Amino acid sequence: MNEVGYGVGEMMRRGRIEVVCGSMFSGKTEELIRRMRRAQFAHQKVEIFKPGIDVRYSEQDVVSHEGTSIPSTPVDSSQSILLLAGDSDVVGIDEAQFFDDGIVDVCNQLANDGIRVIVAGLDLDYRGIPFGPMPKLLSIADDVTKVHAICVRCGALAYVSHRIVAGDRQVLLGETKEYEPLCRQCYLKAVKENKETQQSLF
Ligand code: ZN
Repeated sequence: MNEVGYGVGEMMRRGRIEVVCGSMFSGKTEELIRRMRRAQFAHQKVEIFKPGIDVRYSEQDVVSHEGTSIPSTPVDSSQSILLLAGDSDVVGIDEAQFFDDGIVDVCNQLANDGIRVIVAGLDLDYRGIPFGPMPKLLSIADDVTKVHAICVRCGALAYVSHRIVAGDRQVLLGETKEYEPLCRQCYLKAVKENKETQQSLF
């Protein structure tokens, strides 16, 4: 192959996995949308999938907190992505933490087929524990971007989405009123305060 031919047409289509992770309000979805839009400008066929569970704002669009959106398809299981990805050049997956573990193989398979896969998701749940299939996705990724919100208590970079309301279900959608982004130190302080409050009730 000559030098001119290299990097043209199909050669541009290199399968890879990119993961964008971070806490709530860190701009993960904005970053996913930004990358998908750039691919659209380059006339690539793009398709976004999200778990059917995420119906906060819209059934059909991936909508970020900033209000920008891109059309998407809600799916009930990771396997559906393989069936629906078709001849896409770029596949986006939003809220990946809510998918089943099969999402790891699905991403690998898509990338092996030459598709660029861009995954966005919460790295940690509100207890600071790695969320669902995210640790595995981070491991198999060719490229990882960790984005940060700002700690609402001290202004440092946040690392976790602290749950303000009571209850211990891991999956709780709903946003601003229920979670706050906190840095490690403020999170530890908040957990300690919560325990003290709970103990004083007895
Ligand atoms: Zn802080």
